[in-house]
Amino acid sequence: MGEGFDIRKWIENRKELIVISGPCSVESREQLLETAAGLSKIDKVKVLRGGIWKPRTRPDAFEGIGEVGLQWMREAKQRYGLLTMTEVAVPEHVELALRYGIDILWIGARTVVNPFSVQELADSLRGCDVPVFVKNPIAPDVKLWLGAIERLEGAGLKYIGAIHRGFSSYDESPYRNAPLWEIPIELLRLRRDIPVITDISHISGHRELLQEVAQTALDIGTLGFMIETHCNPDQALTDADQQITPQDLKKLLDSLMFRQKSVDTDELVLQNLRREIDNIDDELLNLIAKRMSVSEQIGHFKKEHKVTILQMDRWKQVLEHHINKGVSLGLNEESVRDIFEIIHKDSINRQF
Ligand code: PEP
Ligand code: MN
Repeated sequence: MGEGFDIRKWIENRKELIVISGPCSVESREQLLETAAGLSKIDKVKVLRGGIWKPRTRPDAFEGIGEVGLQWMREAKQRYGLLTMTEVAVPEHVELALRYGIDILWIGARTVVNPFSVQELADSLRGCDVPVFVKNPIAPDVKLWLGAIERLEGAGLKYIGAIHRGFSSYDESPYRNAPLWEIPIELLRLRRDIPVITDISHISGHRELLQEVAQTALDIGTLGFMIETHCNPDQALTDADQQITPQDLKKLLDSLMFRQKSVDTDELVLQNLRREIDNIDDELLNLIAKRMSVSEQIGHFKKEHKVTILQMDRWKQVLEHHINKGVSLGLNEESVRDIFEIIHKDSINRQF
């Protein structure tokens, strides 16, 4: 239950993991109150989220209930003691949300991609001390995410958080939005002072993936979750596939393995660097395999044309060129020689 929970203090100290939950879209008074009632029974849920204005991909979809939904949010807060949070995309949303006493705002992934929109929002928030969470832009661009945070800071906002919700991708993937965990970790490295939480619903896109994504988020040290819930998920007007009931949210949270000790930022930075090394090693292996296959083609050619396999002059030239290049890149001469001798030996063996 969120009673007595202070989001500003949480942004400063982040002592406990928090859950922000509620429907993708506020649809009716009954739907919101029933969902909020269920959520108020879960300790970790401190904030009730609800989309009032929905950024939809296609124009014929439900675009949100609008202003009347803000009254229901206020009622839910009074009844169940949860803080309330909604998405703002234009200054008019900010004005209305604040007028109805919404406690926390978030800026959505589709808005964060546009610096003009973010600046307009920042200007409309000047002088307010409302906490604002910035979702990552749909494109995997950490500077764009950071830029949005800086625009809010430029407008004097003091309570800012970030929400990782995954990234659009054209590739086949089980996720609705690819998590690309290295990007929120990079944001943390650049800005240790900004708390990052994970929106597992928009990363997953499907209920079955929520558990796995939540556990990974915990393992990399997320400070909180945003999770969409609905009293009747299958009937939801938006994002039905990824919403769960508050009862299932409780089961999901109970099934997670919470670490004794939270992962600190230094450890995350190290993990990120290791991931980078793993990717580079992968690329190296792919390139070596590609090189060997070209070598084999050369082997066939030499056989057909009865050319000797080892062409000493060419090899000397190649090695000298690689050593010079390696040294100019700051590599050790002996190491470059060793690496290419091993590769060359293997190439020659493949040409017999
Ligand atoms: C949402 O939280 O309902 C939403 C629209 O999110 P996003 O901006 O991450 O797509
Ligand atoms: Mn949604």
